[in-house]
Amino acid sequence: MNDVTAAQLRAQAAVHSAHNYHPLPVVIAHAEGAWVTDTDGRRYLDLLAAYSALNFGHRHPRLIAVAQRQLERVTLVSRAFEHDQFGPFCAELAAMADMEMVLAMNSGAEAIETAIKTARKWGYEVKGVPANEAVIIAFEGNFHGRTTTIISFSTDPDSKDSFGPYTPGFRLVPYGDADALAAVMDERVVGVLVEPIQGEAGVIVPPAGFLRRVRELCTQWGALMIADEIQSGLGRTGTTFACEHESVVPDMYVLGKALGGGIVPVSAVVSSADILGVFKPGQHGSTFGGNPLACAIGREVIAMLATGEFQERSAKLGAHMNDRLAALPARAVRDVRCRGLWAGVEFAELNGREASERLMEAGVLVKDTHGTTIRLAPPLVISQDDLDFALDQLEAIIR
Ligand SMILES: *Cc1c(COP(=O)(O)O)cnc(C)c1O
Repeated sequence: MNDVTAAQLRAQAAVHSAHNYHPLPVVIAHAEGAWVTDTDGRRYLDLLAAYSALNFGHRHPRLIAVAQRQLERVTLVSRAFEHDQFGPFCAELAAMADMEMVLAMNSGAEAIETAIKTARKWGYEVKGVPANEAVIIAFEGNFHGRTTTIISFSTDPDSKDSFGPYTPGFRLVPYGDADALAAVMDERVVGVLVEPIQGEAGVIVPPAGFLRRVRELCTQWGALMIADEIQSGLGRTGTTFACEHESVVPDMYVLGKALGGGIVPVSAVVSSADILGVFKPGQHGSTFGGNPLACAIGREVIAMLATGEFQERSAKLGAHMNDRLAALPARAVRDVRCRGLWAGVEFAELNGREASERLMEAGVLVKDTHGTTIRLAPPLVISQDDLDFALDQLEAIIR
């Protein structure tokens, strides 16, 4: 390892990996908690936390211990057979969400696909929508993943252009605009797919009351409210689910990212038995979905969230982060949007990529979103001192 330089490793990736990302020039070799170390031994504070997949930090001891124990027993059987982690995982996840049933998948995009298929099947078989006429409503600025169907209702040209023809059956309305949603609801709408807070769009918090109106309109029109909590859920906003901020209960939660504890991809749709009950054997599935290793880790994530400790840290440290971000000079920072330990910082002029590079030089890793915005999503295990160190660096680069 020592005789290969970081520059050589980056060059190798640049030649042999498709260029579907534009990574910062750091090559990580080790990580623990909120910190990562590069191949030259330089440490950085990780304020991206793998887009919230690392809510519990890198290599949390409880999660690593469970994963290691499971590696010694059984890792994969496929859903053709049962295994001893599966029933408990589904039951415990359903209980955490106060729901009844779980459909386990791997990536977030797969779980969104699952939610779309569920809503359509439910629409035809339960709601009585005429065949192939089901409509799902999504919001402008959304990010729900990268499959061909999901990018069919993206409004981001990078995600969408050159990937047509697109899957029909979706309508878009402006995010946060409940009146616009009301205007496009009709009998054929089987689902409204919403991020309680839009993460990739730059941590966009909708106007107060928006999620409640979405809930009411779904109830009124007999459509399923599908909450994509893949990034906003599991403690990130100071509550287990971001929907809780408006006391809203959707018909379906879509979960992913932190559900896998930063170790393996684990995603799921969580809903009621009359909704997920539409699936019969052979109608949907995944070779790795609900595998023993995933379920064992997922169960530990659920147990950790049950302590309330991570939600509390997120709320408390988030309030502190919000105070410090709000005090940044208005000359340099146009807008700050914060909910729990999750913030979008929109600069007046500074380019987000340039800000990310300068922060990297100062020992803090973040990721730009659109143009002049960076997103801060520290692991929920971060100490206040480390968080203050990161915020000091942010202050320094905009000065
Ligand atoms: C990341 C993300 C997804 C997609 O998850 P993948 O695991 O990358 O497929 C979907 N929705 C939201 C809100 C996300 O943040």
